[in-house]
Amino acid sequence: MAAKRPLSVFIYWLRAAENRMPDSHSGCLDMIREMGLPVEPHAEALRDVDALVAHLEKWESRRSELDYETDGMVIKVNSMAHQKALGGTSRHPRFAIAFKYPPEQKETVVVSIEVQVGRTGKLTPVANLEPVRLSGTIVKRATLHNRDEVERLDIREGDRALVRKAGEIIPQIVAVVKEKRDGSEKPFAFPEQCPVCGSETSRQEGEVDVRCVNPFCEAQLRERLAHFCSRQAMDIENAGPSLINQLVDKGLVHDFGDLYALTREKLESLDRMAEKSAANVIEAIDRSRKAPLDRLIFGLGIPMVGTRTAKQLADEFGSLDAIASADAERLTQVTDVGPRVAASVKEYFQRDAAKNVVEKLRAAGVNMTQERRADGPRPLDGLSFVITGALSRPRDEIKRDIENAGGKVVSSVSKNTSFLVCGEDAGSKLEKANKLGVPVIDEAALARMLSQS
Ligand SMILES: [Zn+2]
Repeated sequence: MAAKRPLSVFIYWLRAAENRMPDSHSGCLDMIREMGLPVEPHAEALRDVDALVAHLEKWESRRSELDYETDGMVIKVNSMAHQKALGGTSRHPRFAIAFKYPPEQKETVVVSIEVQVGRTGKLTPVANLEPVRLSGTIVKRATLHNRDEVERLDIREGDRALVRKAGEIIPQIVAVVKEKRDGSEKPFAFPEQCPVCGSETSRQEGEVDVRCVNPFCEAQLRERLAHFCSRQAMDIENAGPSLINQLVDKGLVHDFGDLYALTREKLESLDRMAEKSAANVIEAIDRSRKAPLDRLIFGLGIPMVGTRTAKQLADEFGSLDAIASADAERLTQVTDVGPRVAASVKEYFQRDAAKNVVEKLRAAGVNMTQERRADGPRPLDGLSFVITGALSRPRDEIKRDIENAGGKVVSSVSKNTSFLVCGEDAGSKLEKANKLGVPVIDEAALARMLSQS
């Protein structure tokens, strides 16, 4: 790995037998150089503190001419005898100290300010600058972080501003040079709409970031696809970030529905995609057509609808179409759905983009219904369960079965717990259940309860 990277070093330290050791640090550097090893060519032995200060000052501006980045210099006592006498603490020697230059700052013109939309919908203002050389590279842009920062700086298009690199890496606007304004500068109005999709934006209370709320915003496609494919949603396990990136970059996928139009041939044309893994992805996508309704609802990424609400919606309505056409009042009959969630669900399905995606998914044969729980048997109605210990199936699955049968699964044992479902090697929960007199059952007993009707 390292051999492939263009790395180079300067050697600055020498260890030799006592009698061959030079008597100064500069002598050591000479010796290293004579051995043919690379030594930083600008190291200098200086007579006194005045010479040292002059040297540091000279390099403050000249360091940008070096062909590597540097944020300072190391000052060392040259005499080896003095070095030895000074010694060191457990952490550092007393004969050497690092000197750091203040970050280089330059004045330039703010040509324009634009807003970018990130993968999570976050709107980030960015200043486009008249190019300026800073700590060795040309800087053309600087992030303005968020709306508050734009207001704090009162930065305007046409302003002159001081730029520096934070940690010598990320260009930052330090301040606006307001004395140099001539009145032609244009104040920046932070957009009320998403610059990518035109949807409204929102800022949650207590948050600094403004976000695009459109779940179909192009800028958020990758993130949304990853969510749709995630384990708790459609569980398309082979669709990792690198595959999703390629699918989006190559224009093969514009929404969830397009996943179902992928073929092995299309996948095999992608980088690093072997025949075998292409087949696995297609198989996983195919399997997801039969995913339970609540996973589809969760996967759609409706704002404020998590796994639990998705499950309740599926149980209450029994089909995606019924949810999509329900009015807000009907939606709020679901336990976890308050007015805000209901509004979010309604708004989601009113979008043309949502209607298109739902139709694509339907055409692809994706499951959109389930038995309405109110109609099915609910043998565990009103009972609450705690699950503990090592079990034969994933805990998620057992939890789902209990909930499908009307039961509730909670995380800790109390006197209100109806049953503790207990596997191998149970610990404190079993102890507590015994102490509180909560009945303890095994998986087989649970299975019998589930099969009652
Ligand atoms: Zn948007």
